[in-house]
Amino acid sequence: MSYDFMKSGNDRNSDGRLPRDMRVTLSAGLVVFLGNAIDSAVLYKDHSKRKLITEKDVVLALKREIFVFGNRCDVEAQVEDTKKELLEMSDTSESDMDFDEMSTSESDMSAEAVDSDDVFAYSTCNCQFCIEMNEVEEKWKSWVPQSPLEKTLYRAIEITADRSLREELHHQ
Ligand SMILES: [Zn+2]
Repeated sequence: MSYDFMKSGNDRNSDGRLPRDMRVTLSAGLVVFLGNAIDSAVLYKDHSKRKLITEKDVVLALKREIFVFGNRCDVEAQVEDTKKELLEMSDTSESDMDFDEMSTSESDMSAEAVDSDDVFAYSTCNCQFCIEMNEVEEKWKSWVPQSPLEKTLYRAIEITADRSLREELHHQ
């Protein structure tokens, strides 16, 4: 990649805002990041032979995405494409692209279509993807976010994980 998406967020202007191009890139990166995570949640649900995605599927997928995002070979092209789309959408209003605002709407990260009434169960499939998903919580516990972006994603995923845990307890 031309720069490291996960390490970004350190280059603020003197007014405390990120340069516009950086904000557009971050916004595009987040769109691709969330899209990848949702795809993974759907795939994991399928491999677990369940009918519906639960919040726990989304939480596992978001956590795994943190570790695999930078290694996905198609990410740079996806981010560039999404950037172009975002720029076309927002040619008239720069305020739509405010990364600082985006990072405060953290609770929006889990998909609306998630049905928390379905019962989560870990996949018993032996493929590499399911093994990664099943082991990601251990890896997550020892991960220390470094950049501002990593810290924002970390908090957002912890909030989503918290809510999914409360849902589980509520249904027991
Ligand atoms: Zn599998």
